Amino acid sequence: MVCARCGAQAAQPPPLTWTCSVDKGVRSYFCGTCSRDNLRAIEGRLDSDWW
Ligand SMILES: [Zn+2]
Repeated sequence: MVCARCGAQAAQPPPLTWTCSVDKGVRSYFCGTCSRDNLRAIEGRLDSDWW
């Protein structure tokens, strides 16, 4: 499996730090680092721009 953001690779099963997100029916995996950045980006969007 490959991180959808930075291209990092991991063997199956993915480490606990990896997260899986489904967007428009497409399953994407993010490594630990990108998951954190991704979460922050999503939360930041919800907290500020979205509302
Ligand atoms: Zn990554």
